[in-house]
Amino acid sequence: MRPVTDVVVIGAGQSGLAATKALQAHGISPLVLEARDRAAGSWPCCYDSLKAFSPAGFSSMPGMPFPGDPDRYPTRDEVAGYLDSYAAALGVEIHTSTPAIRSSGTTTSGSGSMRSSWPPATVPASATSATWAL
Ligand SMILES: Cc1cc2nc3c(=O)[nH]c(=O)nc-3n(C[C@H](O)[C@H](O)[C@H](O)COP(=O)(O)OP(=O)(O)OC[C@H]3O[C@@H](n4cnc5c(N)ncnc54)[C@H](O)[C@@H]3O)c2cc1C
Repeated sequence: MRPVTDVVVIGAGQSGLAATKALQAHGISPLVLEARDRAAGSWPCCYDSLKAFSPAGFSSMPGMPFPGDPDRYPTRDEVAGYLDSYAAALGVEIHTSTPAIRSSGTTTSGSGSMRSSWPPATVPASATSATWAL
């Protein structure tokens, strides 16, 4: 069995969680590092009146339909709660309050590290977003 440090996913928002799901489909169980105290990406930190611009029916993560009326526009808290549930259902090791402070490596040669207290990772996968400025 592969050691979990073969792949480290940086960021536990929608991108990081979807990447984790895809890795699991290939038999890889990554280590996930999340800077914030919760695995739901930027959503919990945004203004409280925010609603998704995409209806629930088009907001599902891979393998888990967004619950409720598919035509409604979910609130910030609904999206964050859904992502919490998705992260939990993945059953993967997610280290919150753990920012990656340095990343280097390649997909083939196994040279990389996240921070001094973490073992080297063959593949650091960044999912840290560039769309939110909070
Ligand atoms: C106002 C607004 C409304 C939006 N509405 C929608 C919508 O309705 N529907 C839609 O599909 N998209 C929407 N988006 C797009 C949005 O980008 C995505 O919904 C989603 O948040 C992107 O997920 P992500 O995982 O790429 O980024 P994020 O949700 O930002 O997650 C990135 C994660 O990486 C973590 N991170 C960053 N740096 C580090 C580090 N060094 N180490 C560890 N962790 C780190 C962050 O803490 C964060 O949790 C909206 C965006 C904005 C700004």
